[in-house]
This record gives sequence, structure tokens and C-alpha cells, in this order.
Amino acid sequence: MPTAGGVHTGIERGDAIGATAIQIFTTSPRQWKARELTDEVLEKWNAAKAKSPIQAYVSHDSYLVDLSSNLEENRTKSVDFLVGELTRCHLLGIPNVVSHMGSGKDEELGCKLIAENLLRVLAETPNDVTLLMETTAGQGSDLGYKFEQWARVIELAGNPDRLAICLDTCHIFAAGYDIRTAETYAATFEEFDRIIGIPRIRAIHCNDSKKDLGTRVDRHDAIGKGFIGETAFRCLVNDPRFINTPILLETPDAETMHAVNLATLRSYVEG
Ligand SMILES: [Zn+2]
Repeated sequence: MPTAGGVHTGIERGDAIGATAIQIFTTSPRQWKARELTDEVLEKWNAAKAKSPIQAYVSHDSYLVDLSSNLEENRTKSVDFLVGELTRCHLLGIPNVVSHMGSGKDEELGCKLIAENLLRVLAETPNDVTLLMETTAGQGSDLGYKFEQWARVIELAGNPDRLAICLDTCHIFAAGYDIRTAETYAATFEEFDRIIGIPRIRAIHCNDSKKDLGTRVDRHDAIGKGFIGETAFRCLVNDPRFINTPILLETPDAETMHAVNLATLRSYVEG
């Protein structure tokens, strides 16, 4: 949800369309300098939250974060930014922060740097906020497009409880995991369960894809309008394993189309 006008407006926008879960940016995702959470900002946020029926809150970190950058300066900036982000989420009562984590042509080195730096972030932040590594489309040299990569990071980090996964349907599809039929959906989640474990999924980004299977290009589309199509989303919203998992839209034109995409998803729910 957009937050132009203050973070609390994300809640108001969610309420306006009858959302039960929202994802927001607590600060601009395109700059290192973070928006300050003054007492006034927190008061407005808490007042909106107290009145809202929204049950699940998720934040998304800056697009600049790269815990496995070649440049030490960028790794340090990324750690500092994430420490700030998790601390802001602690103050806002947001339990989950989604991050794209990092990139790197050398997979093993990238996974090592991510594990090492995320442990610094966890060590410096309150226990009530969990870091969710997002599955990526594998655009450019982004890591996290194979389930094995985030499994490796979890292993290298020593399986911390505060490290989990946000699964993005558009990204896994663009990365080459088919979910277009009931059979391929089942097989992909079986593979995820074997490699990482379904219980690690704490949030799902529910997006169709403007690009085809395996293209490794990240372009979100409206639900049922892209290359993934309706069946995958019917499977997802009726999957009992995700009954308590926030399912979040990141489809285009949030202000006008989130209400429509939400209605589409709800129309798929059976029983
Ligand atoms: Zn996403």
C-alpha cells in the first residue's frame, strides 16, 4: 500500500478496500536516508492501527540493500539500513520485514556474505521482528531465484528462528518454477518443502507475471491476466498450509486496481 501522506495512510488505504493484510514501505525504498519516526508519526500510526481490522502487517526494505555487494561500503550501508528498518518495524509493531537481500555472480560467495551480514542485522535488532528473504526472479545477478540459494543462506546462518521466506509467485515463475496447473503448483511447493520447508514461508507476494516461465524478468501483472493465469491463484488461496500466511498484492496500479485484484482473489476462495 502506498504511504504518501505518512505511514498511517497505508492502513487507511488498506481499510478503504477491506484488506486484512498490508505491506508498506516505512521509508523511501530508493534512498539510503530514512524517514524519521517521530512521536507524532507513531501516534497517528497507532491510532489508525487500533481502529483497523487489518490482522497482518509486513514491511518491504529498500531496493538499494545488497548484503553481498562487491563493495564493503555498500554492505555496511545495507546492514545499517536493515538495522534501521527492523528497528522502525519494532516501533510500529510490524513483525515481518521482506528483503531482496543481495546479488552476486559467485553464488557461494554471495550466500556467505548475505549470511554473515544478516547475522549482524539480527544481532543488533529486537527479537520481535523477523527478516524474510524474498524469492527473486533472478534478474541480473540477483540471488534467491533457486530455492537452494536461500536454503544455503539459512544453513550458513545457523538456522535462526528470525530468518524466514517471502515467496513471490511472479518471481518464482519467472525464475523457472511452474505453478500454472494444480499438478505443477503441487510439484513446485513439494520441491520448496523439500529444500527449505513450507513453515519458513511467512508471507506470500501474490502477483501474476507479464513475462513467461523461466525468462528471469520481473514484471508483475494483475491476477489472472498474465502468463501464470487463474489456476495457480485458485490453488494458493485455497491451500490450507497458507491459511494463516499474509497474502499480499504487488500488482500494478495499487491506488485503483488493488480493490479489483483483491475481489478477484476472494472470488477464488471455495467454501
Ligand atoms: Zn515481491
